[in-house]
Parts: sequence; structure tokens; C-alpha cells
Amino acid sequence: MPRRFPIKAKLALATLIPMFVAIASCWLVGVFILNSRVATEAQGKVRNNLNAAHESYRHELETLRNLVRFTAAAPSTIRAVENGDREALAAILPPLLRGERLDIFTAVDAGGAVIFRGGNPPVYADSQLKNPFVARALAGELLAGADVVPLRRLTAEGKELARRSVITRLPTPHARPAREEPDSSGMVMMAAAPIRDTAGNVVGALYAGVLLNNNNLLVDRIQEILFGNDGENASGRSTIFLGDLRIATNVKLPDGKRAIGTRMSEEVYAQVLLRREKWFGRAFVVNDWFFSAYEPILSLTGIPIGALYVGIPERPYTVGKLRMGFLYSGVLLIGTLLGLAVSHLLSARLAAPIGELERLARRVAAGERGLRIEVPSRDEIGDLAMEFSAMTKALTRQEEEIRDLNRELEQKVRERTVELEEQGRQLLVTREELFRVEKLAAVGELAAGVAHEINNPLAIIRGNAELLEMELPLDSPSREEVAIINRQVGRVERIVSGLLHFARRKERQLDRVDLHQILNDVQGSIGHQVSLDGITLEKEYDLALPGLDADGDQLRQLFANLMANAAQAMPDGGTLTLTTRFTPTTESCTVTIADTGNGIAPDHLSRIFNPFFTTKGSGTGLGLSISYGIVREHGGSITATNNPGDGALFTVTLPCKMSTPPDSLALLD
Ligand code: ADP
Repeated sequence: MPRRFPIKAKLALATLIPMFVAIASCWLVGVFILNSRVATEAQGKVRNNLNAAHESYRHELETLRNLVRFTAAAPSTIRAVENGDREALAAILPPLLRGERLDIFTAVDAGGAVIFRGGNPPVYADSQLKNPFVARALAGELLAGADVVPLRRLTAEGKELARRSVITRLPTPHARPAREEPDSSGMVMMAAAPIRDTAGNVVGALYAGVLLNNNNLLVDRIQEILFGNDGENASGRSTIFLGDLRIATNVKLPDGKRAIGTRMSEEVYAQVLLRREKWFGRAFVVNDWFFSAYEPILSLTGIPIGALYVGIPERPYTVGKLRMGFLYSGVLLIGTLLGLAVSHLLSARLAAPIGELERLARRVAAGERGLRIEVPSRDEIGDLAMEFSAMTKALTRQEEEIRDLNRELEQKVRERTVELEEQGRQLLVTREELFRVEKLAAVGELAAGVAHEINNPLAIIRGNAELLEMELPLDSPSREEVAIINRQVGRVERIVSGLLHFARRKERQLDRVDLHQILNDVQGSIGHQVSLDGITLEKEYDLALPGLDADGDQLRQLFANLMANAAQAMPDGGTLTLTTRFTPTTESCTVTIADTGNGIAPDHLSRIFNPFFTTKGSGTGLGLSISYGIVREHGGSITATNNPGDGALFTVTLPCKMSTPPDSLALLD
């Protein structure tokens, strides 16, 4: 059997799963948005920073260009250059060089030959025509830009410059392989201006420069402008690259020193220095991740000679992001817990009525009825409860109907059983009657033959016995024996007569007879047959008794037999009661003959109508057989029972019709 999965759990799951999916989606989307927002914000910031750094760099160049331009325009400078006056230039250029923190400040004549070097006065007269700044200034152009100055020229421009320009390469992870090139070349911010005489002719030129190698002034200024003047702790970093090499930076090595001598990555190099494009992105700079931006620094001729870098460390953003992430996760977690609680409450609330219904269903199944179902839900569950209530009511009703039907059925079965028993009893009676009728017929035939054969010898015995009696003297002692013979012959004659009567019953002579009349006749004549001494006769006649079509003689014999038997049953006297009754519904007349004798022994009751059954010493046992035959021939019935008030009760029922009104009143005694 599959495992039970309660509806409460299902409801909880049904609310929790979408909630978890929604919360998980929220979390994922939130974290994604947070990441991308942080990244976008950081990238935007670093872009702005790069623009600002670029402006700072441009500003420095502009300042340098203005310095050179104003110096070149000063009359003292013009005069000194026109005259090739080194003394005068020595008074002008070195103070400016020191004051403005320049590394190169040199004047050349119209032919490009150095007149005076502010940074290295002893070296002069060499030609600077190959210097593109000088060449273009002598052509009348005022210009500024970056330049890569080889060691030899640096040495010429200033005694210290060659030493200051040396950069020791440091091993850098992710950097491109080092190139074999002199690392002592210097990147210089350079400006040059023509010197014109009063006529406007170019009589010479001035050029000035600031060596950027190991010179962190510019990068620190950029850092200060962009990230505040917190010095070491300022969050952002900036760098100037010569080629791929850091020559000035405030990016720090793990030991706290500036990371001068480390290099940019291959990827950045390819994009910035080879393709002259800006590069933005996350970069692992020296020993940490930075949101970084690089742009190429171009030479006068537009060739990338280095790069300007600004970066903001990723760590604060990551920390902020983590904090936000934790906060967000916390909020979602609290939301989830709240959701769990609400889901638990909701599912419990929803499942409660279902549980109640389940309990009620169990009670109904166990046989309880008339339960009160109170489910207040106004929804499908409420509907279900109402339907359930209606169903239990219908069930109760149907059960009652079934019980009623059962009762009816049982009643019908009982009635039917009684009917069947009655029919069985009737069948038994009918069978007994049939048997009796057949027996009567057989006995009748036999009796007729025997009686016929006995009659002749009996007549001879009777005649001879009478002759013998007449011939014997009156005092003969044999007269007594002859008298006995005569009496016994009389008895045999009675038996034979009874047998003949029994066997040779006459054809019925049907007349309209009056039962009361017949009963009165029999009552009057019975005294000849039996003794009625001490016997009281009572009559309870039904005056509504109609006449009936019957053989009067046979009925007289019938009632004579019954009354004689009753009288014989009361040798010491008693009451003989005759009763008649008419039943219109069945159109039958009933006559009962009741005595107060000893009654009939129960085991004799079924045999008294059999021929020759007698309990009397002188009886023939044919009286009731003959009576039975008469009643049956008239389509009636005769029964014998014991009278509740002692004695026997014989009931004769004969069919009688109301066709002729009875005139019994006249016949009553
Ligand atoms: P008999 O009178 O010759 O005996 P019946 O056929 O008339 O023959 O009666 C048969 C038997 O039925 C009687 O011997 C008697 O035992 C019984 N009997 C008939 N009528 C009565 C009665 N009224 N009271 C008691 N027993 C009776």
C-alpha cells in the first residue's frame, strides 16, 4: 500500500513549494542584480576616474606647455637666444627648472643646436633637429606631449636623469613575457615652443620636460584628486606605464613599496598598446583585484608608448556586496520562516475541516446516525460537509425504509408460514378423510356381503330358538339358556342391520328441511333408544337459521347417533346442550352437541370416526362412521373435540342457503 500522505502535508507543500521557488528565484535574481549593479557602478566609477585622470594628465601637459610658451615669449629669452647668450639663459632657465620641478629645460638656436641646457649646462652645441619637438617648434609650432627619451639623450639633458630613469623589472603574475629593451629609457612629458624675434621670425626654440620614471608626483596627484588626500589609505590607485612597465604608481607591493617595475597583463597590453583602445574590467593588479581602466598614452606621432591606469580595489565592493547579500538573504530567510509559519497555520486551518469530516465519516461507518456536522467553511469543503450531511440523512432514511421493509417481509413470511401450516394441516385432514372414505367404502362392501350371508343362518337360528322356547315347559331349567340365545341373536341382528345400514345406504332424498324440527324429532324419539335419566337437555337455537336442502331421514339418523352417544357418555346424568348457529358469510349452518360426560381420550380422537372403533362393551363402532358418511354426502363436515367444561363436543357444519326463510319459531318447544 502506498505510504499515507496527509492532506495537511500536501497543502503545506502546495504553499511551500511555490513559495520556495519564488524565494529562491528572488534570491538568485537579487544576487544577480546586486552583482551586476555593483559591477556596473564600479565600472562606471572607474570610467569616470579614468576620464578625470586623463584630464589631470592633460592639465599637467597644458601647464608645461604654457610655461614653455610664456618663457619663449619673454623678451629676455628672445634676446638671449638671438644673441646666443648662455649667461643670460643661465639666469633664466635653471631657476625656472628648479622652481617648476622640471627635469629638462633647454634652449636651441634656429639651426637646432643647443645654446643652453638648464638641467646640464656644460653640455651644449649638439643638434636637436632629430628631436621631433624641437623640429616642430622651429617650424613655428607650440606643442606638448609624451615622448620616450633614450638613455643617451637623457644623460645629455641632466646628469641625474639617466640614473633616475632606471627601473628594475619585478616578477609579475599574469604579465606578458618581458621584452628585451633598455629599461632606462625615460618617459617624459615634453613641451616645446618657438622663439620669435620682433619680426616674427623663428630664431630658436625652447623645450622643457618632466621625467615620469620613478616620478610619482603625477600619479599621487591623480590619486588625491580622485580618491581624496588620505595618502596611503586612499582607496583608488593610478599608474603610468612605459610600454607595459610600471614607471610611476601608487599601487603597492605586499611589502608596502610602490610596485614600480611590475608589468601589465598580456590581455591589457594587447588591447591598449597594440590596438590603442581603452580597457575596462576586473584586473588582478600586482596582488589584488581591482576594477580597472587603462588608456593608451600616445606619442606625438600617435604611437602608443605607454598607458595611464586608474583602479579601485574590488574588496570594499565585495565586502559591501557580501553585506548586502547577507542582509538580503537574512530578509529572505525571515520571509521564508514567516512563510513556513503562515503555511503551517493555513494548511492546518484548511485541513481541520477535512479531518473533522474524516472523523465523522468513520463514526457514520461505525453505525452512528444523526450526527451534527458543523463545518463553517464557505467553500468546497463546506459544500462537501453539506453534501455529507445530506448523504448521512439519506442513509438514515434508507436504512429506516429497509428496516420497515424487513419488518413487512418478516410479517409476510410469518403469515405465509401460518398459511402454509394451515394448508399442511388441511392437507393432512383431507388425506385422513380420503383414507377414511376409502376405508369406509371397502368396509361397506365387505359388510354388505357378510351381512347378506349371515342373515339366512341367523333367521334359521332365530326361528329354531323361538320354536325351542315355545316347546320348552315354563319351568324348564333350559329356558334361561334359550333366552340367552335369543338375546345374543338379537344382538347379532342389530349388528347385521347396522352393517346393512352402513353398507347399503339409500339414495339421498333431498327436501327442504328444518334443522330445528329434525333436532326436536330426534330429541323426542331418542328415549326409546337410550336412557335419558338424570340428563338435562338444553337448546341454544339460532333463530336466523335458514332451511336447507337435505335428506331428512339421514339427518335424523345423524343427530340420533350423536345424541345417543352423548347420553351414553353420561350414565350418571348431566347436561346435553344442543346449539345451532347460522354463518351468513360462508352460508353454513352449524349444530353442536355437547355433553358433560368423561370426554374422549386424546389418543382416541383421531380414531373415533373409524368403523368398528368402540370403547363400549356392547357397541358396534359404526355410529360415528355412518354419521361421518352422511355429513360428507351433504357436503359438510363433522369434528369432535373435548368440551372445555368437561365432556365431548361434536360440531356438524352443513351448507345452507337463505333461499327459504325458516319457520323455526313455530317449532320451538
Ligand atoms: P358405539 O357407540 O357403538 O361405540 P360409535 O361409532 O357411535 O360406536 O362411537 C365410537 C366411540 O366413540 C364410542 O365407543 C366412544 O368411545 C366414543 N364416543 C362417541 N361419542 C362419545 C361421547 N359423546 N362421549 C365420549 N365418547 C364418545
